[in-house]
Amino acid sequence: MAQRTLLQAFHWYYPGDGRLWPDIEEKAASLAEMGITDVWLPPIYKGAAGGSSVGYDVYDLFDLGEFDQKGSVATKYGDRAALERATQALEAKGIGVIYDVVFNHKMGADETERVHVHRVTPDNREEIDPDTFEATVHTRFTFPGRGGRYSEFIWDAKCFTGVDHIEDPDETGVFKLVNDYDEGWSVEVDAEFGNFDYLMGSDIEFRNKAVYEELKHWGRWLMGELPCAGFRLDAVKHIPAWFFRDWIGHMRESAGKDLFVVAEYWHPDLEALRNYLDLVDRQLMLFDVALHYHFHDASKGGADYDLRTLFDGTLVGAMPEHAVTLVANHDTQPLQSLEAPVEPWFKPLAYALILLREQGVPCVFHPDLYGADYTDKGGDGQDHHIEMPAIECLPRLIKARQRFANGPQIDLFDEPNCIGFIRQGTSEAPGCVVVMTNAGETAKAVDLGQEAAGVAFRDFLGHRDDEITTDEKGRASFPVNGGSVSVWVRADALN
Ligand code: CA
Repeated sequence: MAQRTLLQAFHWYYPGDGRLWPDIEEKAASLAEMGITDVWLPPIYKGAAGGSSVGYDVYDLFDLGEFDQKGSVATKYGDRAALERATQALEAKGIGVIYDVVFNHKMGADETERVHVHRVTPDNREEIDPDTFEATVHTRFTFPGRGGRYSEFIWDAKCFTGVDHIEDPDETGVFKLVNDYDEGWSVEVDAEFGNFDYLMGSDIEFRNKAVYEELKHWGRWLMGELPCAGFRLDAVKHIPAWFFRDWIGHMRESAGKDLFVVAEYWHPDLEALRNYLDLVDRQLMLFDVALHYHFHDASKGGADYDLRTLFDGTLVGAMPEHAVTLVANHDTQPLQSLEAPVEPWFKPLAYALILLREQGVPCVFHPDLYGADYTDKGGDGQDHHIEMPAIECLPRLIKARQRFANGPQIDLFDEPNCIGFIRQGTSEAPGCVVVMTNAGETAKAVDLGQEAAGVAFRDFLGHRDDEITTDEKGRASFPVNGGSVSVWVRADALN
């Protein structure tokens, strides 16, 4: 049974023109061979920006690149037929397909409505002006291009809590719609800005029972249309936790299997993540935001960073069974909103730490495997050209996870600039000795015990050419190049 290894199969600047779905179809066999077990796709439905939308500006959840809406039939990634071929190719290779679920908001309404709204203080969303006034809002979604296929549900102002733009009077800000539910925002959301229910676009009102049923219907419909192994839930800190507490159970029950679910609660504070996990009855996993930031800091800090502290305050350190670990994603890549890139020299170390240890489910980022280059405006308003090189040893590290990340783990976090760990292997499968440093070439003294006396080891990554043989007590000094990582495995396990 392969160890779960996710691939985030896209990035913010992945080229458009319907290239992703055919690319995934073509890569399915090589991904399976490499050891990828699950692929997280970008949002598969039509966004407000149509064929150029990355997908987080969701317009119509039921338009998988099938209807002429928002200026195109296909999404940025291809049309529905290509999506079906890609997901079927993955399924045929035994790879699970994980869908991105963007439920917080909708954008690109078809019609406006005249409604009553409250002004809200943007920095403190609990401060809702008690006065209401009439305004025109973009909240009516009729999906004329789809014509009621798959769902006849029409979204209108009753389906939303708030908007950031009104007309007549023309204003931007944060506006709470007057609706049938509560005066205020939804509870069980992040506490930033007093209440972080509102993020962008037309914010979905989960307290409307019809909306709630429609989102359950969509989940069941999707699982009936395409192979599905699970979900990646977008922006959950802006969505009442009670909604997903129910929705996930409903999806698992409908699927009749244990879907894999990971949610994006983008917060570096462990207590915020723990609180959310408790609110959703611990039915899902979360991305380990703190660990990602530690990797960023370590890559910037070089030899000044104490590697022994990498896992302090991380989700994978405290609640490993709920942690999805990552080195980069589409929001943290250069020029994106949460930009905090990990420098290329440190990525092999970071990936070794998420792929070869016992704790956490690792998520590999597409550009780290295949490279990427793109141009976009930075915070300074200037165009920047970004090159993200493929991390050369990453396919080997993924393979090493499936072949050598076996058995109990012993940590060797004893020096600030050189850490390592031992995977002891099992009776069926070999283990490994991982050593890394953020300073110059060095070595770590490792005691593997009498059973490993006189055994020859080689670096599976090929960063070192030497063969290391343990002494009569099973001890050896395992070398590592400067700013590098080596994965030492029994030479006789390499054949
Ligand atoms: Ca919300």
